[in-house]
Amino acid sequence: MSDKGPFLRLAIPTPLRRPFDYIAENVDVRELLPGMRFRAPFGRTSQVGMLLGWRETTDAARPRAVGECLDPRPLLPASIMTLLQWASDYYAHPVGEVIFSALPSLLRQGEPAERRGVEHWRLTCQGALQEPGQLKRAPRQAALLRLLAEHPEGLPAGTINEIQDRWRPAMQTLVEKGWVEREERPALLLCAPAEISRPPVLNDEQRTALASLTGGLGHFGVSLLDGVTGSGKTEVYLGLIGEVLARGEQALVLVPEIGLTPQLLERFRRRFHVPIAVLHSGLSDRERLDAWLAARDGEAAIVIGTRSAVFTPLARLGVIILDEEHDASFKQQEGFRYSARDVAVKRAQLEDVPVLLGSATPSLESLHNARLGRYAHLRLSERAGAARPPALAVLDVRKQPMNSGLSLALVNAMRRHLGADGQVLLFLNRRGYAPTLLCHDCGWVAKCRRCDAHMTLFAGQRRLRCHHCGSERPVDPACPECQSTALAPVGAGTERLEETLQGLFPDTGLVRIDRDTTRRKGALQLLLDSVHAGEARILVGTQMLAKGHHFPGVTLVGLVDVDQGLFSADFRATERMAQLITQVAGRAGRAERPGQVLIQTHHPDHPLLQRLLTEGYAAFARAALEERRQAGLPPYSHLALLRAEAVDGELPLRFLRHARELAEALQPRGVQLLGPIPAPMERRAGRVRAQLLLRADRRAELHRLLGPWLRQLETDRLGRRVRWSMDVDPQEMF
Ligand code: ADP
Ligand code: ZN
Ligand code: ZN
Repeated sequence: MSDKGPFLRLAIPTPLRRPFDYIAENVDVRELLPGMRFRAPFGRTSQVGMLLGWRETTDAARPRAVGECLDPRPLLPASIMTLLQWASDYYAHPVGEVIFSALPSLLRQGEPAERRGVEHWRLTCQGALQEPGQLKRAPRQAALLRLLAEHPEGLPAGTINEIQDRWRPAMQTLVEKGWVEREERPALLLCAPAEISRPPVLNDEQRTALASLTGGLGHFGVSLLDGVTGSGKTEVYLGLIGEVLARGEQALVLVPEIGLTPQLLERFRRRFHVPIAVLHSGLSDRERLDAWLAARDGEAAIVIGTRSAVFTPLARLGVIILDEEHDASFKQQEGFRYSARDVAVKRAQLEDVPVLLGSATPSLESLHNARLGRYAHLRLSERAGAARPPALAVLDVRKQPMNSGLSLALVNAMRRHLGADGQVLLFLNRRGYAPTLLCHDCGWVAKCRRCDAHMTLFAGQRRLRCHHCGSERPVDPACPECQSTALAPVGAGTERLEETLQGLFPDTGLVRIDRDTTRRKGALQLLLDSVHAGEARILVGTQMLAKGHHFPGVTLVGLVDVDQGLFSADFRATERMAQLITQVAGRAGRAERPGQVLIQTHHPDHPLLQRLLTEGYAAFARAALEERRQAGLPPYSHLALLRAEAVDGELPLRFLRHARELAEALQPRGVQLLGPIPAPMERRAGRVRAQLLLRADRRAELHRLLGPWLRQLETDRLGRRVRWSMDVDPQEMF
């Protein structure tokens, strides 16, 4: 105990679950406010810390003097500091890591919170007169000229990075010719007034929803906009944002993955003549900081971002909108594990603004809250404009001859739709060539050496890859067990489907959209462009295709294999499957032409499929909620998962058994401890994994245990020999 105060209490980004006290040397505490950053000695190095407050005494044995103050005023407003503290408590994650993960990386590193503008490139007047064609022998320069000609307003360097590799030398040559110039500009999207598009006349349901939402502006409330795919939810968001802007406030819009929704961004940009900040993982550090500051200081009227943008401060927050609220990507699955949806609701409450959750397939959690009356339930039951809902049908493929997973009936349906000038989308949630390689003579299957998992065959049939740890190897020339060369792929992934379709429809343009074909920068956009231009008439892809895309020409959607999702150990699997089927089906018939959806399965009588097809998602959700209630699963109970892994196979279970004893010693009322048990995939990336599940009917009782328990685990000797993590409200049970 030391009392030569005052002591500054800093949050430091370390895994230790406590703040750190420093002697306030050379600082006048009267000028300090929580939310300012300091440099501070930490171990043998120095760290950037965030001021939480100060006190006259400290428990620290030998407090050290704090370093330089980095901010003349708080970096984060009090409301965000409160939100981050809450998140740290709720998700039982160290406060320093929580606070610093919410900051752009330049601020984490101690850079000043100053806007410098972002490097942009544009054509000069002289450059605009040039013909790229004259640069035949300088293809990189020609490509840059063409690109900049398409964007007369100029492009940020980060965007050019995404489209072209190693472009700087060519750009330099163009500068020397006087054809392009560089300038520093804010990283905001701004639409030219000439491009602004007029909103459609809203239908009755849209108007009712919008009126209810507009009435809720100015104070906290949660609304669930439950609207079938294509029902015009986005139009309701846009209408609401218009009202928010008219009040002089800012809108925060959260979406699952921005890279997948360029069309959505375009719609926002074309509706309002206001600066829009976009926060996503593709930004350079400087762009991200610039956009973040524009949001914080109120300059960006609309802020659109993925998961982590939920923590972005906004000077005049008026509404939070979360699109596709059921999407799993709102949950961070590693490090600081949080749900951006749940954080958004908490934030709206703290800042006293409304939050809108939208989806065609709401999560069971949100539907449950709507039923209890905690959320206002707004429905859009019909497709907007001229589009009609697609007709869904099951294709029973039992005993049918199959060609790489395609039944004759599906191929015939494809011919019909292609013949009538439609486009066809085939969905298969499995990338690579085939999910396994099998020895026809002895039954050996290619397994990962580091995981309990099969290797996926990919790159034609040349290589094997593990989707769980990323390890790769060439295909074995012969069976390692019996030396037979009769090795055969089993099942089909998107690569094989593509190959088969090229054989069946040699004259039809085809694109495959999955992680493998879209890894290169700008590749996804090129593929989508060829679909919209009508060059590609068959689309094959994974769930990347299910998300938000609008393909007006698609009249047939085929789900090639839904069987794997029907039987799974994870209690959320059926919910996810129903959402995926409904979302993929929703890509069909989004314009004037009617759509058809065919679902191939070996289990045509499966109750989930039956209910979904005959009665729709809402009926499925009612039945699924009833099952959860009977089983005492979320949302009727609350879970937390303590995971542990180690190379030494015996340690994780030993640690978790010990953890269980520690928890029991705390006599947690109302908390059930289940396990520990080995993880469903016990070995992954060379580590053995196990888990201990906590279940409680009342959330408060669960949280009462977590704080003291985790502080014990943190200093536990066994705990230092394993990697462990806490997941509150886990989404994946693996
Ligand atoms: P969702 O977000 O529910 O999938 P969108 O807002 O993208 O739906 O609307 C689907 C399509 O219908 C879009 O092309 C949109 O422009 C159009 N649309 C939406 N509302 C209307 C309306 N009231 N009248 C005419 N077209 C509309
Ligand atoms: Zn063999
Ligand atoms: Zn592996």
